[in-house]
Amino acid sequence: MGESELGNVTQRIGIMGGTFDPIHYGHLVAAEEARVAFGLSRVVFVPSGHPPHKTHQAISSGWDRYLMTMLAVLDNPHFDISDTEVRREGPSFAIDTVREFKRAYPEGTEFYFITGADACLEILGWKDSSQLLAECRFIAATRPGIPSSHLREEITRLYPGVTDRFSVLEVPALAISSTDIRSRVREARSIRYLVPELVRQYVERQGLYGRG
Ligand code: ATP
Ligand code: MG
Repeated sequence: MGESELGNVTQRIGIMGGTFDPIHYGHLVAAEEARVAFGLSRVVFVPSGHPPHKTHQAISSGWDRYLMTMLAVLDNPHFDISDTEVRREGPSFAIDTVREFKRAYPEGTEFYFITGADACLEILGWKDSSQLLAECRFIAATRPGIPSSHLREEITRLYPGVTDRFSVLEVPALAISSTDIRSRVREARSIRYLVPELVRQYVERQGLYGRG
């Protein structure tokens, strides 16, 4: 441990943003692998209130997605959940959330924004992306369909000068997506073992993703 770390022990916090409609094991594995690999003391899941890039599609209410996320993270003492984006009016921008976290945590806390490979390549389209890249680091978890070599190349191409803000994290490939889970429910196919059991029961009880 270096001297500066002795005097001022830095805490690392992971921020796992997403629509989580519903949360599934792909999200949970990515967060857990990031936590261990980067020595994060906690990973805070932040369900998006009004995802700016999903305005063209119907999504479940913020509180349904919040509650499913809560049920999914409850059994991991290192996982937490924030309702900041669900409560906030207007589109949910990562930059607002990161700044809010910075105000809430002790000075010197390092923030790691965890994304999947697909979301990582879209950051330039996020609000104030250059400020966001200055405020936190990014962990890009591999996701089926985007090989890690391609991911590294794309990061270098898209984010010249700030590629050191990104780390690629190999996670066990889970070809699970919320889109697939929603279509399974619609088609009355099983979602067991793709989402935590309590999430499966919540979807069933609330009649989410039905034929409508
Ligand atoms: P949808 O199909 O509705 O877009 P999704 O499965 O992509 O849902 P999101 O809520 O959009 O889930 O994703 C939140 C974050 O989790 C994003 O950064 C996304 O890249 C990442 N992610 C989602 N699924 C996986 C997975 N299977 N492996 C790794 N990362 C994932
Ligand atoms: Mg997605």
